[in-house]
Amino acid sequence: MTYIPDSAVKFIFVHYSATYDDQVVTAADIERMHLKRGFNKIGYHAFIRRTGTVEPGRDMTRPGKVEQGAQVSGHNHHSVGVCFAGGLKRGHGVNKGFDTRTPEQTEALIAWIDAQLARFGGDGMDPAKGPLVVGHRDAKGAATQCPGFDVAPWWAEVQANRRAAKRPRIGLLAAIVNLLKGARA
Ligand SMILES: [Zn+2]
Repeated sequence: MTYIPDSAVKFIFVHYSATYDDQVVTAADIERMHLKRGFNKIGYHAFIRRTGTVEPGRDMTRPGKVEQGAQVSGHNHHSVGVCFAGGLKRGHGVNKGFDTRTPEQTEALIAWIDAQLARFGGDGMDPAKGPLVVGHRDAKGAATQCPGFDVAPWWAEVQANRRAAKRPRIGLLAAIVNLLKGARA
């Protein structure tokens, strides 16, 4: 097993499994597919089932280092990767990828990315602070539609929505304070 230091992680890659959105797929299924491709185990660091259940892949349990993945050619030495089950729709064949995430998968994906950012640093958008959150297809030289959506703008929106969610609460508090002041005057 090859390990890379936490400090080497520059990218968090998001993948789909290129299986149909009505298929029940587990990390064990992916591992079987990857063993056939000559990998020694599942290539991703985590796998998210349709139900939102997160299954571990490559070893991330050791402090300060992570097992190198086999998920993005040319980028495994400086990245970790997560894969969600899905990406294909019946009637469209295997050559067209879609964002088929269930709400449970999206929620689990956000939580998983948050955990990685807590470990590796940053907000996923500033390479000076930590790894960038991107899609497989954003990797230089990658010829794939995986994971079926633009990850970086999606992640920026997740972060922006969080900031926006915090603001009204502060606004509400200010309104209450003003109301109390007015009542006293
Ligand atoms: Zn991929």
